Amino acid sequence: MNDSPQQWDDILADTLVECGHCHGPMSPLPPEAPQPRYECLRQMDSACTAVAMPAPELERYVATQMVAEMVKPAVADLLREAVHQVVETELPQHERELAELEARGNVPASEVEAKRDSLGEKRRAYQQLMDPEAFSPRWQVDWWNRRADTSSKRGLCPLFFTKIEVRSGAAPVPGAYEDERITLHWRVWGSVPEDKDLL
Ligand SMILES: [Zn+2]
Repeated sequence: MNDSPQQWDDILADTLVECGHCHGPMSPLPPEAPQPRYECLRQMDSACTAVAMPAPELERYVATQMVAEMVKPAVADLLREAVHQVVETELPQHERELAELEARGNVPASEVEAKRDSLGEKRRAYQQLMDPEAFSPRWQVDWWNRRADTSSKRGLCPLFFTKIEVRSGAAPVPGAYEDERITLHWRVWGSVPEDKDLL
């Protein structure tokens, strides 16, 4: 037996996960919990108690569906455009914020350093996504599975989904492509929120 905590990326942290019965929010236990589960927080419907799903199971399902969508050529083109738009507006904004922190002089060095690190991370994430080879299906799948960090994955989810509903019901057979307990609300492309901090 392996006693180490279950691996869990928490990629849905910025995406709305909702109970399909009472439409209340669903939230997993903290990431350090050995077995984080999404559970209905409102419990207003008799079916709510049965709406619980291990966090990695829900995240794996969502990621599989999202990567399958992402590799469609038309979607890849739109995604690249969306990322490009964000890069043009968001990076300069973060650079200005860093410059302001540095200029203030009374900000603890650790805070400036943290901001600088976070900007560096964003730059690297954007560079990966803006790579001209990035949106070939093979590259994307490989990027998602082996190279993308959690913040990039987390940043992409709200680009694809407005919300995710989970209902009670029997778990599908392992490896099944569809899970009837989960309804993904796909974002209509072109409605990417401009002020969203994507990565
Ligand atoms: Zn509920």
